[in-house]
Amino acid sequence: MSFKSISCQDRVIKLFQNALINDRLAHAYIFAGQEGVGKTLFSKELAKVIFCQHPAGVDACDACNHCQRIASDNFSDLFLILPEKNSRVIKIEQLKYLQDILNVKPLESKHKVVIIQSADKMNEEASNCLLKTLEEPPSYAIMILIVTSLESVKETVRSRCQIIRFSPLSMTTVRDILVSRFQLDRKQAERLAYISNGSIERALLLSGTQAIEKKNWLVDRILKLELDNNLSFSKELFNEWHLQDLEILEEKRTYVRELILSFLLYYRDLLVCKMQGEFSMYHTDWRDALISKSESLSEDVLFSIINVIKRSLIYLDYNANIALLLENMITQILRLQFGKRVPQSIF
Ligand SMILES: [Zn+2]
Repeated sequence: MSFKSISCQDRVIKLFQNALINDRLAHAYIFAGQEGVGKTLFSKELAKVIFCQHPAGVDACDACNHCQRIASDNFSDLFLILPEKNSRVIKIEQLKYLQDILNVKPLESKHKVVIIQSADKMNEEASNCLLKTLEEPPSYAIMILIVTSLESVKETVRSRCQIIRFSPLSMTTVRDILVSRFQLDRKQAERLAYISNGSIERALLLSGTQAIEKKNWLVDRILKLELDNNLSFSKELFNEWHLQDLEILEEKRTYVRELILSFLLYYRDLLVCKMQGEFSMYHTDWRDALISKSESLSEDVLFSIINVIKRSLIYLDYNANIALLLENMITQILRLQFGKRVPQSIF
């Protein structure tokens, strides 16, 4: 792979090509953007361009000894730092190791490139250690901090880096990558692209969890719900999605987030029906049933339901009692749907 094989990030590529032509690479960058849009992939391709022995224009040849060793993570002037297994955060020891690495001059080229993944996930102590390195980088150092949440990076760190934003991939790009690079069936790729929100990583995660089948099951059930089904339905969801079998809270959260997003997709489709074709619908197999359902609900009710769902997504990160959260969300949705008042303090 090389720059030319990267999809949908033309603006970022151009920016770096200009910097490379003018020999104006910064010492530190923050690559910000949601997961799965190719930030790490881009970092490695950038490293190839920097280290390539026979560059073609401002792109890597992808064939020389350096390019090949970078592709197999085996190049002595390129380092990748990421959270250790079973840990969600970068530890201070890893950043001290980074300092040691950068104290030694490059072995095979003019630069030393360090890519730090999940750089938004480090504690105060680790952040301070990183800050020291950023304050006095050796002339040959290029550091790339990869983050999903720019807000979680300390201002002092941010101000010492050039910030590069990565946009989500378009639906057709995600679909095409899933088909060409991961050999998924075109129809399945299309559905996954629709629900992945521009992230290849999320699309691949969803493809492994029967997400499409589960979403279909949900719509089938949700269309028939009555007001007093709230408690039995939340129990049914727990069983159908095997949530009780998951012991690790984070894992449970990931699945429940997906479940809540399925609710969002369903009510978004009802709203799409109401707006009559301005946006495309996801559950096309249910078109008639959804159109008829949408006629019984006002736009206001649908917006209120969507707000309830969005609030539940936010609360999910702070709430340990996931069963109760789900129960509350469904109770509120059904009450709104059947024209009942919703108590505000329900969460
Ligand atoms: Zn090369």
